Amino acid sequence: MPATENPHPPAASPTDPLAPLLDFATRHPRLLVLTGAGCSTGAGIPDYRDADGAWKRDEPMRYQRFVADPLARKRYWARSMVGWRTMARARPAPAHRALVLLAAAGRVRLLVTQNVDGLHAAAGSGNVVDLHGRIDTVCCLGCAARSPRAQLQEELLRRNPRWAALDAGSAPDGDADLESSDFAGFEVPACAQCGGMLKPDVVFFGENVPRERVAAVRAALVESDAMLVLGSSLMVYSGYRFVEDAVAAGKPVAVVNRGRTRADPVVALKVDHEVGTALEVLAAHLLAHVEPD
Ligand SMILES: [Zn+2]
Repeated sequence: MPATENPHPPAASPTDPLAPLLDFATRHPRLLVLTGAGCSTGAGIPDYRDADGAWKRDEPMRYQRFVADPLARKRYWARSMVGWRTMARARPAPAHRALVLLAAAGRVRLLVTQNVDGLHAAAGSGNVVDLHGRIDTVCCLGCAARSPRAQLQEELLRRNPRWAALDAGSAPDGDADLESSDFAGFEVPACAQCGGMLKPDVVFFGENVPRERVAAVRAALVESDAMLVLGSSLMVYSGYRFVEDAVAAGKPVAVVNRGRTRADPVVALKVDHEVGTALEVLAAHLLAHVEPD
């Protein structure tokens, strides 16, 4: 029987499925990192899509419907109120913590996330571009005032005590399943400053990512050696466009994701692997090979 007590060293052997990833990161020290839902599944926030990139659930709310349809808005906030507990409880997962280590080792030119859960910042990552905004913030479509989502939560619970006891499965945008409910009686407060319509400060489908965020990512790409995509199927164009930019600039793209991604035909490296453990191995490998100053 072979000896089993020898622990795995951080450096991968040539037969290790992560060896190509370690090699990629070693050859490209300045990375533009783009993360998606696969980074947060370890934090208990479910993924939107299955391994083939198809929707696991209803497609999320579109902006045009949110602003035009009062009942759809009530339904959104009712589901959000119930799902908020999952979002508020979520704590950083191994992927978030490993990315803090990679940044500390000077390997991350910029960290960009498609996630709205704020968990990169919660883990201690400093410079994060939240491409699609943050679910813990609410904005007013009338006066553009921003306020904490936790504050709105108190108001939603106060106005809708009957709903407060409900529980449900939840989706990555803090939404929840309450399909059998009647949403007409759900009360949604207006902006306390101007009476305007409140909306989570996230980019809905049908809405554009703010221009300055796109510009910040493009500027960082210029100063990066390569792009590393983590836990995203890249089915949404707002993230995929940076893969197109990288490829057009002749910069290699590596993807770590469970299942198919939109970028598979154009990437230099695809690693079908759970993101958290892949990043832990990568961080250990790079930190073990840091040259002392
Ligand atoms: Zn307002």
